[in-house]
Amino acid sequence: MSTPFEPGAPAGEGFIPLCVPEVRGNEWTYVKECLDTGWVSSVGKYVTRFEERIAARLGAGQAVAFTSGTAALHVALLLAGVGPGDEVVLPSLTFIAPAFAVRYLGAWPVLADVDPRHWQMDAEQVRGFLTEGCRSQDGQVVNRATGRRVKALLPVDLMGHPADMDPLMALAEEFGLTVVEDATESLGGLYKGRPAGRLGHIGALSFNGNKIITTGGGGMLVCDDQTLAQRARYLSTQAKDDPLEYVHCQVGFNYRLSNIQAAMGCAQLESLDDYVAAKRRIHQAYREGLAGVPGIGFMAQAGWAVSACWMSPILVDPVAHGQDSRGLLGALHGQGIQTRPLWQPLHQSPALAGSHNLGCPVSERLHQQGLCLPCSVGLTPSDQERVIRAIAAGQGGGSQAA
Ligand SMILES: *Cc1c(COP(=O)(O)O)cnc(C)c1O
Repeated sequence: MSTPFEPGAPAGEGFIPLCVPEVRGNEWTYVKECLDTGWVSSVGKYVTRFEERIAARLGAGQAVAFTSGTAALHVALLLAGVGPGDEVVLPSLTFIAPAFAVRYLGAWPVLADVDPRHWQMDAEQVRGFLTEGCRSQDGQVVNRATGRRVKALLPVDLMGHPADMDPLMALAEEFGLTVVEDATESLGGLYKGRPAGRLGHIGALSFNGNKIITTGGGGMLVCDDQTLAQRARYLSTQAKDDPLEYVHCQVGFNYRLSNIQAAMGCAQLESLDDYVAAKRRIHQAYREGLAGVPGIGFMAQAGWAVSACWMSPILVDPVAHGQDSRGLLGALHGQGIQTRPLWQPLHQSPALAGSHNLGCPVSERLHQQGLCLPCSVGLTPSDQERVIRAIAAGQGGGSQAA
């Protein structure tokens, strides 16, 4: 996925970026306090406060701050008992980070398709895989095709819309699997009234620069189990068993968020509701503004979901619209409007060769037709109007493709 502009690049004259951070609250005050007091590193009141506020926000028992969402996923999977040669089921249509976390442990992804309406991991296909594609051996679930043990399900709340978790949790219960919810895109979203991030046994959040709230870079592991959270904290701080004599009984990680970053996170969290409201408003305005444009489609919002609307993707039907998604991307680029395709489906990723593919035609079609539109929290109505007009005018292939 290469784009002409880096996410997070400052907006130039007339340029409309895909998604840039919004900093307008107490960030400066809290970060300055860290610098003034010398509490800049991985211990400090803001780390604790950020964890407490996230836990309270999600109604979770525990939250542990990490340097990134990927790091939180890595440790979450480790705590789920995933090890070398095991398998984890995740959707093919996602940013690759959760699959990388699986590979860090020497385990392998099993790549499932997404459902065509809500674009979330297809629980029916996963059920088919577990019931027919696997056999039970010594109380373990073994993939017939690969001979590997299936240990966990890793649904991703794609684009901020929660995955359909109830059937996945039922499958996990039936087959003795752990569910790690990748909620790195869905903070602020709801599933049947419950907050995204705590729908599985363990959840992972991200505060990367283009996420709903940001710490520059950061993540959080969320769970209810105190022992699990203690293990997460221990492993993320180099697994020190004796902090004075530096005795280590296990391999640990340097994955702890700094106080400076947490200070920024505390300030950003104060604005979460405003930011999600802005994201949802932007998404709704695209739906309304593009409703009459031939060949433009949207992800359906499930009745059981309140999407955080992290990204605002459209689908471009090349025949009905008169040009394909990449042609439209080029046309918009020419007018200073940054858009981006969806990710290459993971079953097609060279980095993940050797992963088990359950068959993912929907992911392939969404990848071909999908385009994410500018959706910064600070996107002005007039800039958004410009994007909508450009897409409406781009129809019929009148503009230059990249
Ligand atoms: C952003 C993202 C991650 C990784 O989060 P980082 O904080 O960037 O490491 C993981 N999974 C998905 C689906 C993401 O979009």
